[in-house]
Amino acid sequence: MKDGKKLVGARVVNEMSMRLPSLSVNEGMARAAVSAFCAQLDPVATDIADIKCAVSEAVTNCIVHGYRNTVGMIYITVKLCEGGVVRIEIKDRGCGIEDVGQARQPLYTTDAENERSGMGFTVMESFCDKVRVYSKCGKGTTVTLFKRLNTK
Ligand code: ATP
Ligand code: MG
Repeated sequence: MKDGKKLVGARVVNEMSMRLPSLSVNEGMARAAVSAFCAQLDPVATDIADIKCAVSEAVTNCIVHGYRNTVGMIYITVKLCEGGVVRIEIKDRGCGIEDVGQARQPLYTTDAENERSGMGFTVMESFCDKVRVYSKCGKGTTVTLFKRLNTK
């Protein structure tokens, strides 16, 4: 285990939750709020940039896929854990994903007509230490991002 510190299951020391309607104007708000909360751990700038990118991809997916042509709530929980680990849960109650394994493949998209590249999950995976996706058709999707921050 990297640094001998737990990534999953580490003790939570602080947390925050928010919920936002799936309006594209709220994507930037979600990204800024999550990164501002994580900033209390005094992470290096590149880690904050990574978190912003990953959150942006997950929230955009709720807006453009989960609640396609509708508006629903996006639920975000951020947990700061011992060892500088951050756990960010981004959840929608939208259409869900039929085959998560396929959806996570690089370049897989169901929305090529809107020039989506199918790289959102790949970006999340490259900027985080672990990405969990739980989804049920007709019920919604929960993406959990885990990242171990390098502190200054
Ligand atoms: P890009 O992110 O590059 O703009 P994309 O959104 O299609 O393109 P991914 O973010 O990797 O690519 O997602 C892959 C596919 O998984 C999507 O095309 C969509 O079918 C499905 N998907 C992802 N997130 C959700 C979600 N929250 N609800 C429903 N379907 C989703
Ligand atoms: Mg995407």
